[in-house]
Amino acid sequence: MKIGIVGCAGRMGRMLINEVLATDGCNLAGGTEREGSDFIGVDLGQLAGAGETGIACTDDAAALFTIADAIIDFTLPVATTDHAALALEHGVSLVIGTTGLNDDQQGALDVAARRTTVVQAANFSVGVNLLLGLAEQVAGVLDESFDIEIIEMHHKHKVDAPSGTALAIGKAAAAGRGVNLDDVAQRVRDGHTGERRNGDIGFATLRGGDVAGEHTAVFAGAGERIELTHKAASRVIFARGAVRAALWAKNQPPGLYSMKDVLGF
Ligand code: NAD
Repeated sequence: MKIGIVGCAGRMGRMLINEVLATDGCNLAGGTEREGSDFIGVDLGQLAGAGETGIACTDDAAALFTIADAIIDFTLPVATTDHAALALEHGVSLVIGTTGLNDDQQGALDVAARRTTVVQAANFSVGVNLLLGLAEQVAGVLDESFDIEIIEMHHKHKVDAPSGTALAIGKAAAAGRGVNLDDVAQRVRDGHTGERRNGDIGFATLRGGDVAGEHTAVFAGAGERIELTHKAASRVIFARGAVRAALWAKNQPPGLYSMKDVLGF
């Protein structure tokens, strides 16, 4: 499968080049950067810290879309919108990791998905998406006698809490129980809080050091406890998930899919 990487000189783009080169069944079709980038003409292998590939970075996205079977896009929302139009025109599968799209930009993906296969995820880690699916399933099986708490730890530079992924786990668990997270979330506890309310989903946030990201969903019952934990060590997990999504997209009919679909949940 010929995979093209748009935004190939970015932090994720370079990891994606490596991942495509290392994955069986994948060939690197090419890579693009924004017009005027200093990286135009540079060998893709050099960008990724791998050996020479003989394929240079270009700014000609239209040409890349004519030769690739799938394109992976971790760029900027405006660029992603242009790439969605090219995917529509050429019928090429598109894997979108870019975040922060507004409604119009999201609309462009919806239009492309009418004619081609689009996989979009805010978090492409296979493990995190598996954890989301499992949290929903476990919460659906256990009743409210099991208290759900989400614990997360990140490096000391992270500025928001709880993490987006912790909230996504809470949302998945709430969905499993058939409730709305906003109605049951206990995002912080401090001082004389009173007893835990039945059915609440609690959050605990730890910050320190250089932890890339750790999340645990705790289901605490009387006399037993289930814990589902994911530990991220590097951003390479996003690249791995995106390449997996590109391979999966090959056999899918047109539509807008998520990592949940890729993993079969
Ligand atoms: P980055 O800034 O390092 O890389 C983005 C690259 O896109 C840059 O090299 C930029 O020059 C390039 N670019 C911009 N416009 C372009 C165009 N028109 N054509 C080709 N290339 C263009 O950023 P990053 O850390 O790699 O993240 C990129 C995006 O991916 C962000 O939106 C980020 O939030 C998202 N992200 C998503 C996940 C996930 O799992 N979904 C994981 C990590 C990052």
